[in-house]
Amino acid sequence: MKPAICVLNAGSSSIKFSLFEESDDDDLTLRLRGQVEAIGGAPRFVAQDADGNPVHERRWDADEGLDHGAALEFLAGFLLEQLKGLGLVAVGHRVVHGGLLYADPVRIDAAVLASLEQLQSLAPLHQPHNLAPIRRLLDSRPDLPQIACFDTAFHRSNPDVAQMFALPYELHLEGVRRYGFHGLSYEYVAETLARLDEDAALGRTIVLHLGNGCSMCALDGGRSVASTMGFTAVDGLMMGTRTGALDPGVVLYLMAERRMTASDIERLLYSESGLLGVSGIASDMRTLLASKEPRARLAIDLFLYRVRRELGALVAVLGGLDALVFTAGIGENSAEIRARVCRDAEWIGVAVDEAANASGGPRISRGDSRVAAWVMPTNEELMIARQTRRVIRAETGVVQRGRERAAEADYAA
Ligand code: ADP
Repeated sequence: MKPAICVLNAGSSSIKFSLFEESDDDDLTLRLRGQVEAIGGAPRFVAQDADGNPVHERRWDADEGLDHGAALEFLAGFLLEQLKGLGLVAVGHRVVHGGLLYADPVRIDAAVLASLEQLQSLAPLHQPHNLAPIRRLLDSRPDLPQIACFDTAFHRSNPDVAQMFALPYELHLEGVRRYGFHGLSYEYVAETLARLDEDAALGRTIVLHLGNGCSMCALDGGRSVASTMGFTAVDGLMMGTRTGALDPGVVLYLMAERRMTASDIERLLYSESGLLGVSGIASDMRTLLASKEPRARLAIDLFLYRVRRELGALVAVLGGLDALVFTAGIGENSAEIRARVCRDAEWIGVAVDEAANASGGPRISRGDSRVAAWVMPTNEELMIARQTRRVIRAETGVVQRGRERAAEADYAA
């Protein structure tokens, strides 16, 4: 039976899954993906094969009351049916926050789960939902290996100064620091870059993850040295509905003058700002690019201005630049945004090849460009599956090495 790995990404109202099987080239290939969405409302389940063909669909009425537990049970039943010829070796979970403790993926047991639960206050919008299915599976399938893969872990290599706020030091020790996010995406891109452009992978690269959530990461020799997101995923670049970097004085003003509560401000910063807040039209970049409204243009101009400023800051951190990589929904699909970012970066030596950019790359810089520019589709699910497999293999290796050593000891005796 071929080994398979299931990846779960559980959110507040959805559980997304992907099923990967071992491929002949010792990587992993997608077999199935899908999600249960609108949990708590009128849930809908869809599953597709690797080519995007529908495999299964189901809907529930709101009064059937399908909650997260029932949705997970349904998913488990569906996956068991679909395993045909595959042996499930582990489940890999996307967990947004690994705090200070986890710089690598980790096999989950009760103690690890308890330590992750303590991080809930650092990511209250995501962490509790990420952990819920882990807890349920740990109860119902204690023998099934579960691996937590973190959005923060990749940035644990940042030097201290890149992690610090200029707050009293005790707060830093307490964990109030810049963690950075989108780490699974950056690690995937770094691995892909190593295959496509070895010089860039060994040098100084800035990756632009531009989706609904947006951030940038500075890589030096493939390791993260700085990123635009901070203590939470609301910092840094302007996003679909999130502000990005904001003078904390604005928050004090909103509290004092507008009498806004913490939850009012949270809604404003996370859900009502960014492209949506500035344009008053949409959070979706496609809609704004197609619009002739002046506020749509203003929102895009501000989006690009913020990218330009943060790019300059990260180039300064790296002390130069060898490559730029665009990824995620906007980065992968919008030739117009990429072209404008590249033109803004001409001063560092980026010379865009307009034809290659229009056709989507992967290389979009001219042959004579001092800085290479690439488009790379990200694949966070595959990264989770790879990390999960690494943990399982390392454990098996440890067990095997232990057995070998025991055998050698017997032999020697
Ligand atoms: P998430 O961060 O939720 O994973 P995605 O990476 O899917 O989001 O990115 C969603 C964003 O990508 C949206 O703003 C969407 O408009 C944008 N996008 C997708 N395709 C295009 C396109 N062809 N042109 C411009 N923007 C696009």
